[in-house]
Amino acid sequence: MPIQLTTLSQSSLQDYNDCPRRFELRYLEQLAYPAIETEPALENEKHQKEGEYFHRLAQQHLIGIPTEQVAKFANTENLQRWWDNYIHAKDLTGLKDLSGLKTEITLSAPLGKFRLVAKYDLIGFDGDKVYIYDWKTYRKRPKNEWLAIRWQTRVYRALLVQAGAHFNGGKPIQPEQIEMIYWFPDFPNDPARFAYKADQFKRDWDALTKLADEIATASIFPKTDEVSKCSYCPYRSYCNRGVRAGDAVEAELETEAEELFDINFEQIGEIEF
Ligand code: SF4
Repeated sequence: MPIQLTTLSQSSLQDYNDCPRRFELRYLEQLAYPAIETEPALENEKHQKEGEYFHRLAQQHLIGIPTEQVAKFANTENLQRWWDNYIHAKDLTGLKDLSGLKTEITLSAPLGKFRLVAKYDLIGFDGDKVYIYDWKTYRKRPKNEWLAIRWQTRVYRALLVQAGAHFNGGKPIQPEQIEMIYWFPDFPNDPARFAYKADQFKRDWDALTKLADEIATASIFPKTDEVSKCSYCPYRSYCNRGVRAGDAVEAELETEAEELFDINFEQIGEIEF
């Protein structure tokens, strides 16, 4: 019996976008991963764990724990390199001077029959401007065109407009105030920056509302026609779409771990309307 889904996130929307069947298996049936996603499996798992750990180091640093103390925990080759790049990155040196940094914050707002939820690595305020930072420990720098159309880029900016008022003295944050920055620890001088405008916000929120309605009323969740997506999908065996796992470097751009179950719902800031 499928579970009743109450929340949507950028990951679940991206899954629905990429393959409705994957969305169904992962979020409605909540099936445990039956196949490894990528080869080499162990190396990929280690890279993912290091990525999560890097997020923690950055957070500790941003909440004021002294640099030298945090640096001690950058204790693998990857973590050391990422940490060095983070500490010396030109784009990030002014971060701690921004007022009201919010790290690992979760926002949510109603979206049709669901709540749309997102967990932000960092939101920083500089006068009128609001910066959304997201750390990406990708081994390959994705193209800006690819990032621009990802649901994460659209959801994070749109949700900050919808649900960020309590960071802004009770007034909604305007799209033009927002910029989203993906910062890549392995490509420290090449962050991807996405400004925002009112017409983009309208387009995004309309598209999100439409997608939420479509999901709420869907009775079938077809498999994707793009079989290339299946090489990185842990549900291959359910779909007779191959047994061999795909290459990890390509896969990390296609499939990202779902963060929703890590969300502490007590920390969610939200608006009602
Ligand atoms: S294996 Fe392919 S068709 Fe099946 S859920 Fe995954 S992406 Fe969709």
